[in-house]
Amino acid sequence: SYVLYHDQIIKSGSIPVDPEDRGYLFGDGIYEVVFVYDRKPFAFNEHFDRFEQSAKKLELAMPYDIATFKHLTEELITKNNIVNGMVYIQMTRGVAPRNHLYERNMQSVVTGFAKSVSLDSIEKSQSNGIQTYLTEDIRWLRCDIKSLNLLGNVMAKRKAADFDCQEAIQHRDGTVTEGSSSNVFIVKNGTLKTHPATNLILNGITRQIVINLAEKLQIPVLEESFTVDELTGADEVFITSTTMEVTPVVQLRGNKEQAYKIGPVTAELQKQFKTQIQQNTSA
Ligand code: PMP
Repeated sequence: SYVLYHDQIIKSGSIPVDPEDRGYLFGDGIYEVVFVYDRKPFAFNEHFDRFEQSAKKLELAMPYDIATFKHLTEELITKNNIVNGMVYIQMTRGVAPRNHLYERNMQSVVTGFAKSVSLDSIEKSQSNGIQTYLTEDIRWLRCDIKSLNLLGNVMAKRKAADFDCQEAIQHRDGTVTEGSSSNVFIVKNGTLKTHPATNLILNGITRQIVINLAEKLQIPVLEESFTVDELTGADEVFITSTTMEVTPVVQLRGNKEQAYKIGPVTAELQKQFKTQIQQNTSA
């Protein structure tokens, strides 16, 4: 396979790994995951707007403009012959003798890869729904930055899997924030609710698309935080992410247990999201 290193697409296995890269030492870097449908990146500009915002928040130097990143992403897709799959792009602050203090305007190190993904497993989760595990959100207070530091998320996902759940739903003092790698929506009496795009969550690209779709469909959307009690009392619950699209939640486990049915609002948003994907691939 072929991977990205700086602005080159090269054979995998040939990237020099520098142990003094701040990405390894401090998790000092950012990333993006873009889905590929029918050989085309989906919502590329939205993902790279967020990439630039993450870079700005951490004072990471952007070595290339968005057009170069887009070109490299497309090259990763074609060289690896990805029909449906994902592209991962990472950027660390670069290499320097280990010191917590960073110098501004270091030479960022960009790496990336592309993988094929079977749409079957995504489809299965979308038609059957998934089980989720309620757990405390132990992460830092800048979850809006798509940084490489994901230990809180990683621990939450492991815990969920230990209870046969495919995703964790995290809460801070009883306020639901987001999944370990997804955003969480509830539906109550026909109204959608999801945590506002503050420092406590990652503002998901799928989340933003779903909010826009809901507004077009005249489904009321409240970007307001909601409690664990509202979660258990919801008519419908679903999660959104680049790799899961719109996936219904059919079970909550943990301190609170609740079963849900896949409801009409979730089903409609799933359908509209698929239409959006179709429009992207035919563009
Ligand atoms: N929250 C977190 C913590 C995530 O890791 C992700 C997936 N990257 C999301 C939300 C969903 O974001 P997106 O829709 O952009 O994939």
